[in-house]
Amino acid sequence: MRFQDIPGQEEIKQKLRDALKRDHVAHAQLFAGPDGSPNLAMALAFATYLNCANRTETDACGECPSCVKNAKLVHPDLHFIFPTSATPKFKREDATSDKFLTEWRSFVLSMPYGNVTDWSFHFGWENKQVIIPRKESRNIINSLALKSFEGSYKIMLVWLPELMNVNAANGILKILEEPPEKTIFLMVSNDANRLLTTIISRTQILRIPAFTDEEIKESLEAKEGLSLEKIGQIAYLAEGNLRVATHLADGDVNEVQELFKNWMRLCFTWDFKGMTKMADDFQKSGKEQQKSLFNAGTKVLRDTLINQFEAKDLMRVPDSEAGFIQNFGKVFNPEKIAMVTPKLEEAHYHIERNANAKILFLDLSLSIAQIARSN
Ligand SMILES: [Zn+2]
Repeated sequence: MRFQDIPGQEEIKQKLRDALKRDHVAHAQLFAGPDGSPNLAMALAFATYLNCANRTETDACGECPSCVKNAKLVHPDLHFIFPTSATPKFKREDATSDKFLTEWRSFVLSMPYGNVTDWSFHFGWENKQVIIPRKESRNIINSLALKSFEGSYKIMLVWLPELMNVNAANGILKILEEPPEKTIFLMVSNDANRLLTTIISRTQILRIPAFTDEEIKESLEAKEGLSLEKIGQIAYLAEGNLRVATHLADGDVNEVQELFKNWMRLCFTWDFKGMTKMADDFQKSGKEQQKSLFNAGTKVLRDTLINQFEAKDLMRVPDSEAGFIQNFGKVFNPEKIAMVTPKLEEAHYHIERNANAKILFLDLSLSIAQIARSN
């Protein structure tokens, strides 16, 4: 991964380049960014830049031996720690990152904007909790005690330190504060609020923002077979989350939108038979699809509200959606929107925590139907 592989985010990239230029690279840095932001990608690009033999003012060369190894995530001075779970072969405590490097590399290379759910699915840990076990603090200290292989920076990239066992976190406080020479910790967090303050206080925080719509579009334009209209729709739905945008680009974005519209029609007309049928289908679909339906709904509600107060803001909405939003606004006034929105958010929350999808969907349909009909 190089800076040029990440769409936009110039300010952050410049900050990182400047730090190296001024020889002010902090030895412990926290790349804190929301889900779907380039926090991991940026840390990888920075690692590549740091150890490139022919870096330019703006980026790593991509061709030197160090860059070639970094591109495959096999550079001997780039160490990874990430959350794992037990397997038939390894007990919880023994399931440390070094046992899963092959899977990890293939995950990061295919989904550099993936989150912990993607990682669990990639490995086959779907319903298991993944953490960074206590033993990893020992592994971190041991691998950093080695001399750097190529005279370059030794980099310890910890992905999702918020999932560290408390003892593991406490075990690295000392080395985090005083790492060996030319050693750099890159902590990549999706939820920095959950980190121990003792960890946070030892790092320099770099806040990575979500992508802009334009950056999402730029990234999607590089994919084949997406029309401009579809790219616009996806950027609109993804709200700066490139992970969501990628999932949408792989699936059928119209499908989610159409599904939401059909669902609302069933609610407005009290079509119980239709609702039940849809609840069955809903249950069979994957968690990601279930969540994307609620996300699409939350978005339509918000845009309907904006449209009711200030029609010109609808210009961001693709033409294909504007008509629906106008009609939707005839049924849902601001008071009703204020009632439905938290219900959708709540449903999203419960789906994430493995609620019964069918019951949840039917309940929600009835509530929405009731709100739509109320005066
Ligand atoms: Zn290079």
